[in-house]
This record gives sequence, structure tokens and C-alpha cells, in this order.
Amino acid sequence: MKSLSTALTLLLIALSSIAIMPQYSDSHLAQTSEIIVIGRIVVEEPTCFIQGRNTCTPWRVEVEEFLKGTGGESLVFYTQGGQIPNSSRRLWVEDQPEPIIGERAVIFLEELSGNWFVNGLFQGYRRISEGAVDGIALPDFAEYIIHLAHGVDFAKPRPRPSAEASPMSISSITPTTGLAGDGTITLTISGLGFGLSTGTVEFTYYQWPGYPPNFLHPSWTTIHYWSDTEIRTDIAANASSGPIRVTPAVGTAQVSPMDFTVTFGYKGNRWPAATPVYVTLNYNPSTYPSTGCGPAIQAALNTWSTAGAWWRYTYGSPTSDGDTLFDAGSNGNNSIHFGYFPDSSPPLGICQIYLDGWPVMYIHEMDIRFNLAEPWSAGDPVSANDVESIALHEAGHGLQLMDVYGIADIDKIMYGVSTTGTAKRTLHTTDNAGIIYIYGNDATQIDEPSESGEFAQVSVTQSPSFGHGNIELNLPVGADVRVEIIDITGRSVAEPFEGNLDAGLSRIPYEIPSAKPSGVYFAVVRTGGEFYSKKIVVLK
Ligand SMILES: [Zn+2]
Repeated sequence: MKSLSTALTLLLIALSSIAIMPQYSDSHLAQTSEIIVIGRIVVEEPTCFIQGRNTCTPWRVEVEEFLKGTGGESLVFYTQGGQIPNSSRRLWVEDQPEPIIGERAVIFLEELSGNWFVNGLFQGYRRISEGAVDGIALPDFAEYIIHLAHGVDFAKPRPRPSAEASPMSISSITPTTGLAGDGTITLTISGLGFGLSTGTVEFTYYQWPGYPPNFLHPSWTTIHYWSDTEIRTDIAANASSGPIRVTPAVGTAQVSPMDFTVTFGYKGNRWPAATPVYVTLNYNPSTYPSTGCGPAIQAALNTWSTAGAWWRYTYGSPTSDGDTLFDAGSNGNNSIHFGYFPDSSPPLGICQIYLDGWPVMYIHEMDIRFNLAEPWSAGDPVSANDVESIALHEAGHGLQLMDVYGIADIDKIMYGVSTTGTAKRTLHTTDNAGIIYIYGNDATQIDEPSESGEFAQVSVTQSPSFGHGNIELNLPVGADVRVEIIDITGRSVAEPFEGNLDAGLSRIPYEIPSAKPSGVYFAVVRTGGEFYSKKIVVLK
């Protein structure tokens, strides 16, 4: 019990990479894309690494129709993030689309050095749901895009009203506001006609002013309870402010007439506790496009240091860390620099986070890169992308605050889209609430979990060929426990148990659905503020 860290060999090391994006118009995306296809995602290929850029995940798309350009019957395209070869490390890019096998989508692609990438990161990926994109019938959307791709202005079609009205209705969402992602808040959706079988609930992912919301895939939402008049769910990680879409098992999807407001997003990983937490960011001044960048970055770091939380950023010492080290991964040096991204429609900045530890995963390193291909402006007046504003946003990711993309989120520092030429240099009250929630202040200090044998023991026995087995839990005291099986992208594939367990040994059977592919999965056990994960290998 005492030395769990040596008894259990699995170290789940993860990276996440979080970017701030310029906002692209549909016509910009249509005109800068070399190929635009309607297609179905059929196979998830093994992850790959393209030298000189971040780790990538290839996806194969069975082409149904080319809206622009020509090509074969299938295309392999890449999104950033994936598994680093010969390592258990994962790199995840928060802003990337997450294509689902079997899903249809309209995808805007650009070619770079013989590889196809999604244009504008997630902005060039549009899910087709119930024959429509953002509620616009697919033929109408396709006609619109074809016109834009040829440089012809064409009014964006309006969503068609649903042919048959569903008797289902959503009357309230309680609470109406909360933080996304850490599973501490259960949302209750009340109404009529949800049906007795469990359907799906989708949270807003992003929404531009004047456009319908784009929803997160339902696999991001954990449903705890479903009845004809009430649904209870977690607030999905990566949720933004906006309406919620409920789809009954039988019947028509309905969007809530009221918005749910996300205060801030937090997935539960943070830096090890200390009072305060000190993080020193070393900097590479030889990459700075102007001398004002240093003071602007210092000012941004200082804004987080003086937010009233147990948090202190220090603008440290010059370092030579830059392109190579940023791509190669963790080197134990938190650093910040300017450098290039290979995409022609790249992010303005990225914060890479490295997670490590057992049984609780902590951040142990962060690196920030600004995009040197973009025009920058430090100080006043702001004539291009504002260094201080973008530094403030990326340093917020270093705390592990997540992007939000809802219309109600536009004034927040953690809004994931930036408008060129504007400064956003002070924290919104929700950004401030976020840092205090994660790191506490002198009144609400957050303690490091005890290292003195208070942890549960977790082990997994499995039948590797069949994807089922038992998760054994030995709890020092009775506790509320949630057990979930996730795939390597973090998507939940099964939730074998949620409830209270007595002290002592408990055995929880699990089964990975037979439709899921062979590969690596993780059993994730959450109890109190603690987190355990064990690898499961499924062979077929
Ligand atoms: Zn961001």
C-alpha cells in the first residue's frame, strides 16, 4: 500500500497541446483549401510522426463527393496529436477535430509536402448529422461551399425547419452555469418526452455569432440517469457556453431553448500543489520578432501571478530552447519562444503540457510557441496580433484552463479565437475564478493528496483476447467510485461502475464492446480527488 508508485509499473504520460486560433470565414476556408470533400471516416490508421512537426493522427476518408478539387476514392488526412512512436506518450491538441469512425463530414483539406491536413484546424471539419451541417441540409451547404470555393459570394442558407415536430421538449437546465470537464457538477435537464431508453446529449463545442452551434460528439457526455422527464449528465470536457442538444433513442433531436453557460473549462490535471505554485518560464529572446515581446510576455505572466490565487509565474532566464525541442517533447525546461508552424493556416500560439506521475497525474512541464509567420505587435497601439493577449491566453493553458468557444465566452481570456489587432489583457471574472478553483488561495488552499498509504490499490485482470475481465479495487475506506474504460484518445467506451463501495476488496467486471477495435484501452478509476489508470490490451 505504501509504495504504490513502485508496485504499479504503468506510468501514463500524456501531453496536450492547446492553441489559440485566428477565426476564418467560410469563404477563406473554401478558397484556401485545395480539396473539399464529403466523405465517411472508415478506418483509424496507426498514429504517426511527421518529422519537423507535431505528432499526427491519420484518418482515412471514403470520398462520396468532391466539392472542390479531384482525387481518388479515398484520402488519408492528418490531424495533429497522437502517439509518439516508441513511447507511451500521447500528444493531444485540444482544438483539433476528433473524427469518429463511421461518421460523415465535410472536410476542407490543404496539402503540405505531400500530406493532407485539415484546413484551419477544427474550422475545416464539419460534421454531417441527420443529413445536415449545422442544421443546414447537406445539398444546400454543399452548394454554398461550391460557390465560395469559386470566389462567388453566396448567402449562407438557413436551416430548414424540421419536417415533423417532436412531442419532446426541454423546459429547464439546472444549474444554468458551471465549470466544464472535471466531473464535479451534475447537470439536470428537465422536460417531457425524452423516452425511456437512453439517447444522447451534446454540449455546444463552438459557435460563431450569427451561426448555429456546432456540438461536441455525444461520446464526450457521460449520462448518469435518463427518464422520460429528466436526464442527468456531467458537463462534458471541452464544452463551451451555448445550447444543449438532446436526441431521444426514438424521435427527433431538440436543442434547448436556453443556453448553458460554461464558466471555465478544467480537465482535472494541474501542477503539484505548493503554496504558492511557482512556475518559471525560460525564454528564447533570439526568436522574438521585436524587443517589446519580452515585457509584453512578462506583463501577461504577472497578470496570472497577481490573480489572487496560489500561483506565481516567473519570467526566468534566457534559453536556447526552440523549434527542435518543442517538437521533440519534454526536456524538463519550461520555455517560451517564437517559431514556425508548418501549416499554411496555423494557430497563433500553442501551449504544450506534459503530464506525468502515478497514481495522480500532474503537469511537470509546459512550453509555449508563438507563430512567427503571423504579424505581431507588442505594446501600444495594437497593430497586429497582440503579444500580451496571446501570452495571457497560452499561459492560462499552462495553468490547465481549457479553451471555450461559445458566444457567451467571447470576452474571456480563455476564448479560443483571437481577432487581429485587438488587445485582451485583463482576466475576465471567470478566468480568475478558474485559477482560484484549481490552485486555491490562502483561504481555500488545495492540498497535495497524501503519499502515506491513503491510496486505493487498483489492479486489472483481463482476458486479452476477448476484451473483458475484472477490475479489482482495494479501498482503505468506503468511498464513491467511478470506473470507466477509455480508448487512447480519451473517449469513453464503457462505464462498468459508478456508486459507493465499502472498504476492502471489490471486483468490478468490465466488458469492452465487441464492435470496438483491437488495441490499447485504459481502465480509469476515480475516487474522491484521486485518479488511477491501468492499461488494458485488447487483441482480436
Ligand atoms: Zn487556446
